Amino acid sequence: MGRKKLPLIEKIEITDIGARGKAIAKVDNFVTFVSNGLPGDVVDLQITRRKKSFQEGKVVRFHTYSRLRTEPFCQHFGQCGGCRWQDLKYTDQLHYKQQEVSDNLNRIGQLELPPVNPIRASANERYYRNKLEFTFSNRRWLSTDEINSGDEFTDRNGLGFHVPGMFDKVIDLEECHLQPEPSNIIRQEIRDYSRDHGLSFYDLRNGGGLLRTLIIRNTLKGEWMVIVVFFEDDKQQRNLLMDHLHAKFPEITSLMYCINQKANDSIFDQEILLYTGQDYIIEQMEDLQFKIGPKSFFQTNSVQALELYRKVRELAGLTGGEVVYDLYSGTGTIGLFLARQAGKVIGIEFIDEAIQDARVNAGLNNIGNAEFFSGDIKDLLTEEFVQKQGKPDVLVTDPPRAGMHKNVVDVMLAVSPARIVYVSCNPSTQARDLQLLSEQYKVLEIQPFDMFPQTYHVENIVLLEKM
Ligand code: SAH
Repeated sequence: MGRKKLPLIEKIEITDIGARGKAIAKVDNFVTFVSNGLPGDVVDLQITRRKKSFQEGKVVRFHTYSRLRTEPFCQHFGQCGGCRWQDLKYTDQLHYKQQEVSDNLNRIGQLELPPVNPIRASANERYYRNKLEFTFSNRRWLSTDEINSGDEFTDRNGLGFHVPGMFDKVIDLEECHLQPEPSNIIRQEIRDYSRDHGLSFYDLRNGGGLLRTLIIRNTLKGEWMVIVVFFEDDKQQRNLLMDHLHAKFPEITSLMYCINQKANDSIFDQEILLYTGQDYIIEQMEDLQFKIGPKSFFQTNSVQALELYRKVRELAGLTGGEVVYDLYSGTGTIGLFLARQAGKVIGIEFIDEAIQDARVNAGLNNIGNAEFFSGDIKDLLTEEFVQKQGKPDVLVTDPPRAGMHKNVVDVMLAVSPARIVYVSCNPSTQARDLQLLSEQYKVLEIQPFDMFPQTYHVENIVLLEKM
């Protein structure tokens, strides 16, 4: 209605992948992000949105398929929001992640950088996650094939992931390739048992229903934590399901539940109750043990996290007496990993529960030289704090996607540790922060890591040394 029809571009080649894994075609040199293509595809492209400096388009016809393509392994590919790069060969996924890191760091300009080390691949390309969260829905999403079949679907109870960007649409999963078994077996059993016994699934639009979400966590040692989140508080029906799970899956070492009647799914502010077993599972890394409670944060790819921590330890280059700061410490894993080679470790993190976990983990591992503080780093990390706790010789920082607050960088520059090990999950904000640090620091090493195969996400460690 009054809107100009956007053009269809014929036979154009997709040539690259840019930030956040978006495929790119250049239409008369104009950057065009393509939602469903890969470099090497020759396609007809329907432009769907036009902006000043870029436009977006969707492939409506493939003329030639890219040689980088591989057959997606998952039946839910294309609908589910996870594993969106599974049509790209793993070696090429790694190539584009490496490029994402170099592009961002080289963009800084004047900085002299060493060559970026080859990205460290994940040992597991699938089944690498130790935590998944699923949603129950009484109106599971129907695929185009199902709709076109003309069949009627009266029982629409489903359990799985959200369709990307759609809060009320849930794909009923048959199989997920992200977490090892018995993750799928447990999820399917819960779904089938609940369907068969008439337990109601959550109504995402209007609220109501018994079953809301399901969280499954595991450790490398083979311990399993299952948290069933209910909406309605119906003890009889709840016990029916929980007893069934307890009897059926002896491998569940921590069976927990929660009743969440809030508007949103987050259980961080809810009480999580133990049904059977222990209220935690234990992850083992080298000779360290980490206790993971239902609300604890833990890196989701444990095997690769260990490699990442080993690299951090190598780059930290500790000799035994150093004061080490672990900023954005989460549950303190990095700090504890370094503590035995350090004089003292100071961790800072704003989630109080994570700090409590960090302290418990220090105790569990008889580490007496690590202290953890909870609060916003930009408020806590002041020059007075540093005077009191000791000036860092080595500072490890692992901020969220947004990178570091400018005040935090300023304090780092003011207290000037000899080495900074910067772990980042977003090379673009990391580049910005490195630029700020470059007035006093030079970059000695750059090591990308793949923590999340089949996605565009990339982790990157940079070692900085005071000039
Ligand atoms: N180093 C941890 C993970 C860090 S993830 C590990 O390896 O397990 C980033 C952490 O930064 C999260 O735990 C988040 O809660 C914390 N965080 C984010 N912004 C913060 C801030 N402004 N102050 C303190 N902590 C913050």
